[in-house]
Amino acid sequence: MVKIFDWDKIETKNRHSGTMKTTCPECSHTRKNKKDPCLYVNFTSGVAKCFHCESLSFRDSESKIDEVKEYTLPSQTWTNYTNLSENLVKWVEDERRIKQFALKDLGITEEKYYQPKKQKEVNNIVFNYFEGDKLVNKKYRTADKCFTQSTGGKPIFYNINSIIGETECYIVEGEFDVLALHSYGIKNVISVPNGANDNDDYWKNSDIYIKDIEKFIIAVDNDTKGNELKERIAQRLGRYRCEFIEWTDKDANGALISGEIENDIKNRKRFPVSGTWQIKDIESDIFDLYHNGLPETIKPKHPTFAKFNEMYSVMRGQLTIGTGIPSHGKSNFTEWYALNLVKDYNMKMSMFTPEHSPMSLHQTTLIQKAIGRNFWSDRGGKPRINEADINRYVRWANERIYTTLPEKGEVPTWDWLLDKFKEQMFAFGVDIFLIDAFNKVLLPRGVNKIDAINEVLTKLTSFAQVNNVVVFLIAHPTKMKKDDAGVYNTPSLYDVSGSADFRNQTHNGFAIHRYFEDENGSGYTKFINLKTKFQFQGNIGAESSFNYDVDNSRYYGHDCPRHDIDLTLEDIGDTIQPNLEFESSAKEIIHQKKIDNGDYDIIEDDDLPF
Ligand SMILES: [Zn+2]
Repeated sequence: MVKIFDWDKIETKNRHSGTMKTTCPECSHTRKNKKDPCLYVNFTSGVAKCFHCESLSFRDSESKIDEVKEYTLPSQTWTNYTNLSENLVKWVEDERRIKQFALKDLGITEEKYYQPKKQKEVNNIVFNYFEGDKLVNKKYRTADKCFTQSTGGKPIFYNINSIIGETECYIVEGEFDVLALHSYGIKNVISVPNGANDNDDYWKNSDIYIKDIEKFIIAVDNDTKGNELKERIAQRLGRYRCEFIEWTDKDANGALISGEIENDIKNRKRFPVSGTWQIKDIESDIFDLYHNGLPETIKPKHPTFAKFNEMYSVMRGQLTIGTGIPSHGKSNFTEWYALNLVKDYNMKMSMFTPEHSPMSLHQTTLIQKAIGRNFWSDRGGKPRINEADINRYVRWANERIYTTLPEKGEVPTWDWLLDKFKEQMFAFGVDIFLIDAFNKVLLPRGVNKIDAINEVLTKLTSFAQVNNVVVFLIAHPTKMKKDDAGVYNTPSLYDVSGSADFRNQTHNGFAIHRYFEDENGSGYTKFINLKTKFQFQGNIGAESSFNYDVDNSRYYGHDCPRHDIDLTLEDIGDTIQPNLEFESSAKEIIHQKKIDNGDYDIIEDDDLPF
């Protein structure tokens, strides 16, 4: 185990900010070169690490304890049972090729503990989750792959101490992969705590350790779930600072066993974003196109969009501008459209919609769209949304829909907004950003308006590209002229107020135009494809008609059946949330997930490499 020493022992030479290198209070006096500055000190984050003896120090250990108050930390007496049985050490070495020093360095223990699946106390190998000198969580695994963990522990990456002061960080998908890389000689490696299940908590709790890292090497499992996880991690961290390893075997431990580990690590790859590329970097993408055809575009799966999908779609990495005459429904339509993408692709959306404050009032129309009934009263033969519906929406939307508000009611700048979006990408893994509307953000000063708009659109398109996210931007047109019949013309992207660049710079664009009810009561809303970047995304100039349902704020495809679907139903969350309580012989309460066959299971075995 790494040693943790008092911050006061550091020779800070009266420095209080930035970073510095100095001698190590733990090892320097024992070394030949006693003046070697082997200790890295970061005053901003309050951590120090020795690159010779690997000791750590934390300045704010008191405030750290405060911070973890909401969690129930395991008993801190772990040092009492660090002795590992001959059996365990041998098994890990024979079966997993993991060296004993790795078990020691990572503070692996062996303990008797209640395993819910077996309904009794059994012997376990224990992965101790340390944050600094605090034991914040423990995961227990039996020889025959039963898992459980301590109740109420703090969710955090496993082995988080190992990346303090580092510029690079490997991310794997299980504790045994951490041990495998550590055995191989790579020590700056952390593991997601729950297999392929991604959630916000452990990212939030690990933020202070991760934010200074310059490069991430994502080395999760080589299977479907692992690939999804890889994409989600790169999404949060920003592809430009990520590389990835494709294991020849299932995972890092598999590669250690088969001997492919060195080769696999050498052949790490970059994500295609920007910069300078060699053809080799995109070799697999070329083969992917060759074998699987054109890339899949993103389109809502609700049957009411069937006709619409033939003429329009968006893709990740693209800016889409929606326009339309005020009160014709461009915001309403875009929100309904984006909510369907959130549901159908398990995405997360962040909305900057100052035009629709207060926030809670805006949420009522989103709830109507999600549930499919009116928020305020019984309408059209359907009952008003009830409290259970609201609860379900809140549960569904809480980790899917985020709102950005201007600070103190000020009009924010584009740099401020894009910084917020970047934070949200990291903290929550947001994939869709909706800005409503363009004129609610301050244009850069010191240049004329056309240049300023051009600059903002360049930033927005590159934000979408570099981060591989979907950006929707609502923009108002200039005042439109009426035709001979007294009907307003539909705006094009050239009519968007301020600059022709709205047409030239954006990847995609559309207009929403409402034909209000005449005496025959046949009003409808038209969606016009104003631009798609690639031909295979849709037909520029094509139109699709929708009927607006004023009761639930949804748009139903004209002549399409009105499916009463509820976006919040089905596949609620793919994270494993323990939801049953049991009492063990040790009187320790363990949360469990009841699975269909009546067994109890904490973590999907397939997600874990042991
Ligand atoms: Zn040292």
